[in-house]
Amino acid sequence: MLLRKKSAALMARAQKKIPGAVNSPVRAWNAVGGDPLFVARAQGPFVFDSDGNRFIDYVGSYGPAILGHAHPAVVAGVIDQVPRGFSYGAPTELAVELAEMLADAIPSVEKVRLVSSGTEAGMTAIRIARAATGRPAILKFDGCYHGHSDSMLVRAGSGAMTLALPDSAGVPEALAALTRVAPYNSLAALEACFKAAPHDIAAVIFEPVAANMGVVTPVAGFLKDAAALAHRHGALLICDEVITGFRLRFGAACELFGVAPDLLMLGKIIGGGMPLAAVAGRAHLMDLLAPNGPVYQAGTLSGNPVSVRAGIETLKLLREPGTYERLDEAGARLARGLTAALAAAHVTGCVNRAGSLLTLFLGVGAVIDAEQARRADPKLFSRFFAAMLARGIYLPPSQFEAMFVSLAHGPAELDATIKAAAESLAEAVRS
Ligand SMILES: *Cc1c(COP(=O)(O)O)cnc(C)c1O
Repeated sequence: MLLRKKSAALMARAQKKIPGAVNSPVRAWNAVGGDPLFVARAQGPFVFDSDGNRFIDYVGSYGPAILGHAHPAVVAGVIDQVPRGFSYGAPTELAVELAEMLADAIPSVEKVRLVSSGTEAGMTAIRIARAATGRPAILKFDGCYHGHSDSMLVRAGSGAMTLALPDSAGVPEALAALTRVAPYNSLAALEACFKAAPHDIAAVIFEPVAANMGVVTPVAGFLKDAAALAHRHGALLICDEVITGFRLRFGAACELFGVAPDLLMLGKIIGGGMPLAAVAGRAHLMDLLAPNGPVYQAGTLSGNPVSVRAGIETLKLLREPGTYERLDEAGARLARGLTAALAAAHVTGCVNRAGSLLTLFLGVGAVIDAEQARRADPKLFSRFFAAMLARGIYLPPSQFEAMFVSLAHGPAELDATIKAAAESLAEAVRS
């Protein structure tokens, strides 16, 4: 039995001064119950809580920790940078170097602006698209998450989906009305949206592999057809690669599907676990940004040199040959094991996977959109989550968050996870 006295005490203390005890809602474990882990440190594939318990970690900071935690080369880069000062409010050579690395890796990226969060990247991309097209509306897919800007909290995934708050309070109806929504993987629905308002839609924003309603991969041809449809109607394509960028390949995932976006959002991995994100894309669009153009955007900590250094060190390691083959093998090994565990426990479910991103959906046989994802069994998932935690496996505390496998997850960790999953599924269906 795990002892988690300190996490419980910290939870009580946090509740008094921090809303919901957390700085981002999913961390509160509302969907699964119990006191969240208060993490004291993390190393490689492991997190350690304040009570000193060790867990194999599949949260991975929700995406950034692709190398595993505290990789020595990234730590060394950060330690080298810190004494040089950690924020100047001035341009740096480091930021130029990172922009060049991103542009070299992604053909549709001609220019890059660094920001501090994926949310900001999304806000800016949308503002550019509206300015470039002179159109007001944005089309997104149900269950996709693009940060917590007002316009994107409409049928949103991630924590908003976990807490059944896909449409947030505090977003004026007039603004929400400018966000059109179609089901993921439905070209017909997308077509209907364009037909209803052919000259309204400034951009279609999408995750090339949806990873905030659980992992949902695009059906064959969907992204390519959706992209062609958008362009035919004069709308821009904003590809949200905040999770998928440098996760599925060295560069943008949209290229796997033959899609060349006009604007991209990057985040998570490109900051190596430090606050960093980027909006990037075609030069003529990016040059609409101030000071070159009329679209305003700014940030005190944008391009923070410590974050940029962590990002550069991370990308250098990911660029090594064989990286993505290893990640894919690790993801495949885990997916095979989880699928076998489902069958052995006679539990209805499915494993959706793209490379090192995966979701074990419980209670549904297949998931290709948010409506199907919402049919998953939350009670079964929360029992499974608790049983895994008791066995030292830290899963994302929601059916709608992806599991993140890192390069630090070796066969020993993956096989221990599979064994725990077989036991935990059997326990979860029994109770
Ligand atoms: C995490 C995420 C965001 C938001 O990034 P933040 O840094 O949390 O603001 C946007 N889009 C996608 C696809 C994400 O997964």
